[in-house]
Amino acid sequence: MPTVTLNNGVSMPQLGFGVYQVPNDETERVVTAALEAGYRSIDTATLYANEAGTGRAIAASGLPREDVFVTTKLWNTDQGYDSALRAFDTSLAELGLDHVDLYLIHWPMPARDLYVETWRAFERIYTEGRAKAIGVSNFNPAHLDRLARESDVVPAVNQIELHPRLPQAELRRYGTAHGIVTEAWGPLGQGKGGLLEEPVLAELAAKHGASPAQVVLRWHLQLGNVVIPKSATPARIRENLDVFGFTLDDDDLASIATLDTGTRGGPDPETTN
Ligand code: NAD
Repeated sequence: MPTVTLNNGVSMPQLGFGVYQVPNDETERVVTAALEAGYRSIDTATLYANEAGTGRAIAASGLPREDVFVTTKLWNTDQGYDSALRAFDTSLAELGLDHVDLYLIHWPMPARDLYVETWRAFERIYTEGRAKAIGVSNFNPAHLDRLARESDVVPAVNQIELHPRLPQAELRRYGTAHGIVTEAWGPLGQGKGGLLEEPVLAELAAKHGASPAQVVLRWHLQLGNVVIPKSATPARIRENLDVFGFTLDDDDLASIATLDTGTRGGPDPETTN
């Protein structure tokens, strides 16, 4: 499993497993399947209400804690200094862990204007060693510039909607320039909008003896993204990890670039509150 090195030296698997919309009572089974398949990075959030199931699967796996990279996220209603500290304690308790590997602010909510204050709480959590790295999600350059001006720690990661219809070139360039790793959410287009049925992807899948989903995940890895596909189906969970046996060439990447429509499947960070 390739890893990326975050700006504080922490190592993060480049391919992980997301659990958005997995019900808590199914999450232990699904995360167990992912760990058995070989995933070593799990992405949950307070919003998903499945931190407890995620934590149970990690505990039951018997894997050493340091072998599993655990990410969770602060939900919007918990932004603010004291409320963020309290929410983090709740997340750790739900997960049954004494630290997470990465803690993210889920959305900037610029109209609420609490993300700088929230980030100061994150800096404290980081200094205390209870999160090995801290980062953000759905932040635009203006939000990241403001954190740079008004705080001390540069986010290690920005987790953003990113897939062939929305390749996010500007945010990826910004991340590279500022030492912020770009992590793709909805990397398969969330199974919406017919992305995986695109003829371009079918052709590339046939060329490489892979599936369209594997072609898209390979594209992410070759762009340098961290990627966290989700599936609740064991065969797909394994399929999405089996993306290291082929390489897309420049022509393949150019074909995938034709799928860029600049359209979001999810909310706009500027207006989400
Ligand atoms: P995704 O792009 O990973 O798509 C998941 C869907 O794709 C599945 O439900 C299934 O329908 C389909 N799929 C998965 N594997 C497939 C395969 N091999 N073949 C065919 N279809 C397949 O979407 P996602 O779950 O929304 O995003 C991944 C993770 O990103 C989430 O689970 C969550 O952890 C994170 N996320 C974060 C945010 C955020 O705001 N930070 C928002 C959404 C998701």
